Amino acid sequence: MRMNLAEIYKSNPFVLSFELFPPKSDKGMDHLIENLRRLLEFHPHFVTCTYGAGGSTREKTLDTLAHVQALTDIPVASHVTCVGATVEDLKAYLAKAAEQGIENIVAIRGDPPEGEEEFRTMKGALSFGRDLVELIRREYPEFGIAVGGYPETHPEAGSPETDLRYLKEKVDCGADVVITQLFYNNDDFLRFRDCCTSKGICVPIIPGLLPVTNFNQVKRIASLCGATLPEDFLNALENCGDDTAAQFAVGVEQATRQAGGLIAHGVAGIHFYVLNKSHATSEVLGALELPPK
Ligand SMILES: Cc1cc2nc3c(=O)[nH]c(=O)nc-3n(C[C@H](O)[C@H](O)[C@H](O)COP(=O)(O)OP(=O)(O)OC[C@H]3O[C@@H](n4cnc5c(N)ncnc54)[C@H](O)[C@@H]3O)c2cc1C
Repeated sequence: MRMNLAEIYKSNPFVLSFELFPPKSDKGMDHLIENLRRLLEFHPHFVTCTYGAGGSTREKTLDTLAHVQALTDIPVASHVTCVGATVEDLKAYLAKAAEQGIENIVAIRGDPPEGEEEFRTMKGALSFGRDLVELIRREYPEFGIAVGGYPETHPEAGSPETDLRYLKEKVDCGADVVITQLFYNNDDFLRFRDCCTSKGICVPIIPGLLPVTNFNQVKRIASLCGATLPEDFLNALENCGDDTAAQFAVGVEQATRQAGGLIAHGVAGIHFYVLNKSHATSEVLGALELPPK
């Protein structure tokens, strides 16, 4: 059913969503579809697909969502970033997305292209997530819009206070929901959510969870987005040695505990970074008592 994010969060007390990425090959797409089929058994309210660093997967994002739309009629969202695209490029992409029946956009600034340390705005391009939200609201008001939020503060932000001020700008420009960067300490999220409320950010703040199920993934995550992993969780993973099944079980247990804690604190939904796989997220969801949807 066609529904934008504002309507989805307004009409459901608990919203479940999954994030995919565009696969590189046909085999990867088959794998994604097979896994998504399993995840659909949990009745998610919407599915999103990322937009590759530097805008590198623009067409693949639309193509991936077309495959999702062929499988299910639940709403979808395309991530879009400001990197490597002029305003005209972005408008053309948004027009295509609308034409394809995509109802929602996850509006993101993006990271600097590989090899560059600092984010620099290209001529004719946008500088911040806020500018993209503004553009979408002006040109395509019918899209639902999600933006990114950072429980541990965005790595480039001067301080948590300035980061929150800019987050409020994104919401004031028209974002319907904030989806957070992944995190592993619920206290970080709960503190962030309280700060959002006290700054007058009144849209749903949705935790983004990525179950970590092996030790190599931990290192990658820490270096990619700077998320802090709890010491006892790292120790438990390390104690598994090379036993990958044991590492998986530890990761699922941690994610189940984390999701359960968030639900107990009344979150309006959970967004799972499923990485085109279903096993870990299915185990977590199967072990949880989800609130009525
Ligand atoms: C839910 C989610 C989805 C994501 N999806 C993708 C994806 O599909 N593809 C991808 O490449 N990356 C993705 N990312 C990663 C994202 O690109 C990076 O985290 C990026 O560094 C920040 O994007 P943003 O939109 O949150 O930035 P912004 O909100 O623009 O903020 C970026 C930095 O600038 C500061 N800032 C904001 N506004 C101003 C201003 N007016 N003046 C000065 N400083 C300002 C902020 O405090 C922050 O430090 C995603 C992240 C999240 C949380």
